[in-house]
Amino acid sequence: MFIKSLVSQLGLIMITAMAVTACNNSTEEKKTENNTDSMKTGIKRSDFGTVDGKPVYLYTLTNAKGDEVKITNYGGIVTSWISPDKNGKRSSIVLGFDSLSGYLAKPPYFGAIVGRYGNRIAKGRFKIGDSTYSLAVNNGSNHLHGGLKGFDKQVWEATVANDSVPVLSLSYLSKDMEEGYPGNLKVNVVYTLTDDDALQIEYTAETDKPTVLNLTNHSYFNLTGDHRNTILDHKMMIKADYYTPVDTGLIPTGELKAVKGTPFDFNTPEKIGTRIAQTGGNPVGYDHNYALKRSDNSLQEVVTVTDSLSGRKLELFTTEPGVQFYTGNFLDGSIKGSDGVPFNKNTGFCLETQHFPDSPNQPKFPSVLLKPGEKFHSITKYKLSTE
Ligand code: BGC
Repeated sequence: MFIKSLVSQLGLIMITAMAVTACNNSTEEKKTENNTDSMKTGIKRSDFGTVDGKPVYLYTLTNAKGDEVKITNYGGIVTSWISPDKNGKRSSIVLGFDSLSGYLAKPPYFGAIVGRYGNRIAKGRFKIGDSTYSLAVNNGSNHLHGGLKGFDKQVWEATVANDSVPVLSLSYLSKDMEEGYPGNLKVNVVYTLTDDDALQIEYTAETDKPTVLNLTNHSYFNLTGDHRNTILDHKMMIKADYYTPVDTGLIPTGELKAVKGTPFDFNTPEKIGTRIAQTGGNPVGYDHNYALKRSDNSLQEVVTVTDSLSGRKLELFTTEPGVQFYTGNFLDGSIKGSDGVPFNKNTGFCLETQHFPDSPNQPKFPSVLLKPGEKFHSITKYKLSTE
């Protein structure tokens, strides 16, 4: 099974992750104080508000180059990632808000950790053995992104690691039958900002009953650093020969379709906007899962995106078999940023690394079943540079 082989191949990385988690536990306040005034690199914590009576914080991770990623323990949301463009001008390359209120208004998963199941499950139903489970139908006639109160709307426990680079560890216990999913699931998501401007996200999880799991991050990128621009001139390269076509409700038909000769072929770098009108869908645009071309389950580079305006380049590495390439088709200008500028259609793109949508109902797709005694482990890394 896919999860089992992933675990065995990445055993060493898991040990490292456990060591990081172990040293997380006692250092948050100390590290926070240390970083407030005297240190340039590290993690600074500030108050961000309250949700469900629990305090919510904003953690600013700064690396040696001065790149700054802000993450809140509400939904594990990446609220901003400030980096320089080719002329040294700094701005955020992800869509987000400066304050918690923007997120409480439920924007479409900006920057969030999505779970227990990223993307759709047809009709909100699946079976494990002889048991049928029913989930919230919150997207047409289907279930989307973990339901009414998924992991993106929960307050996570945060600890920071006393390490050479900033490491933020977030934990959440999803109780048995929360949002209809079986099993008490312990989830840990570790964000690391490296000195070569990579944001690594490492996911681990364990359950006490068989369950299904598909974790991802839902950041919307705009490499121009200004969401008044669309992302249609960004050049995209996706290493994938196949994608999973969908029905009108965006549920995979089960087919793995060759991208060759279609607007879905990004094996050679191409502007996102060149063929977007030919993708179909309503609203039109890319909102498709790619079956990534990879030699094994190790951390491999699968996508490269470049923007000539800013000179920024984003490289995506993952251990996952798929990526949902979504071009912000449902953004319609009704939500405004903290700067008052609306988020219009195609002002951000997502690269949601994942198992395929509706896998619990698609026996031919890689399995998303997690059983007691197994350890789920997955890594995704977004690396920024300028050229
Ligand atoms: C889905 C889109 C959805 C978006 C925001 C993406 O992962 O594929 O269809 O609109 O998330 O919810």
